[in-house]
Amino acid sequence: MINIIKIASPYIDDTEIDAVAKVLRSGNLSQGKITKSFEDKFAKYCNIKYAVAVNSGTAALHSALNALGINAQDEVITSPLTFVATANAVLMQGAKVEFCDIDEETFNIDPGKVTEKITKNTKAIIPVDLYGHMYDVPKINSIAKKNNLKVIEDAAQAVGSEYKGRRAGSVADVSCFSLYATKNLTSGAGGIITTNNKKVAETIKLFRNHGQEDGKLYYYKGLGYNYTMSNIIASIAKKQLERLDRLIATRRRNAHILTKYLKNIKGLTTPKESSFYKDSYHQYTIRILKEYKITRKKFMEYLEKHNIQTRIYYPKPLHLYPHFQKLGYKKGDFPVAEALSQEIVSLPVHPLVSKDEINYIVKTIRSIV
Ligand SMILES: *Cc1c(COP(=O)(O)O)cnc(C)c1O
Repeated sequence: MINIIKIASPYIDDTEIDAVAKVLRSGNLSQGKITKSFEDKFAKYCNIKYAVAVNSGTAALHSALNALGINAQDEVITSPLTFVATANAVLMQGAKVEFCDIDEETFNIDPGKVTEKITKNTKAIIPVDLYGHMYDVPKINSIAKKNNLKVIEDAAQAVGSEYKGRRAGSVADVSCFSLYATKNLTSGAGGIITTNNKKVAETIKLFRNHGQEDGKLYYYKGLGYNYTMSNIIASIAKKQLERLDRLIATRRRNAHILTKYLKNIKGLTTPKESSFYKDSYHQYTIRILKEYKITRKKFMEYLEKHNIQTRIYYPKPLHLYPHFQKLGYKKGDFPVAEALSQEIVSLPVHPLVSKDEINYIVKTIRSIV
């Protein structure tokens, strides 16, 4: 009897457990020295000047939008095929979400469709590094530059991914990461923002702590939230960061085995790693097309029966949910995102999936007739 191969599983051992115990014994639980030390190490990892930790990826996005001065009347362009937090953060600032359709190979915002979405109220683009594949950096950045827009990279799924040797978190105006339980680098919950802009970093530091500067309690400089990251959480994140390169290498090994043995199956597409890109494979997402032997639903049931968990990220594009339909969106607006949401399915690829298990997944899929 084989164990269930889960779609996600955090890699935690005594290293993290000991680090947490140490913080608990120290008595200094809230945001403090360990948070700062994690920020410094994360900035170094991304090769960028500033990193500011917060308590979720959602808080990271919200803080970034606020620090860039995005408010009511402003418009922000983003992908409809993403976790809801990407677009909700825009709504939190009272701004308008302008969805733009995606490219069917990269699952990222289609640069060819961005320009037509730009109006005089557009202030920023949030490209999403979906599944750990970074956005079209040269094209999106150049459209942004030409139109005087900011790029906020939703890198929640892309820690350690690279474009031309530059890591996610170092190519946009501001980048936002999540440390949620299923993410490549996890502390259970958490987020971190990277930027080379000192003013943005400082604004976020105030915003995350009710407008208070570090060490200057009760001098509220403006509206803020309680988005601080505790020493407890930071101690886990710091240890995860030390092993991140190995975790990503294992994901990439697993992904490459899957691609090698699944790429020539009719009606099943494997993810493409574009040239100049190094993907961290937060998810390994295939597409089940009409030409495939069975439907996606049957495919998922078959794998489930063989103890292999699969998931759909995401089953419905955001513009089809009530709080975005209220903005006037309807079915048919983003045909690529809508079609893809019916074809995609992700397979287990995380570092706790052994080589034997990966081979078992290959064998199981190849046995479908
Ligand atoms: C996980 C995720 C977020 C939100 O992060 P949380 O830490 O869960 O708040 C935002 N965007 C994307 C693309 C994500 O995958």
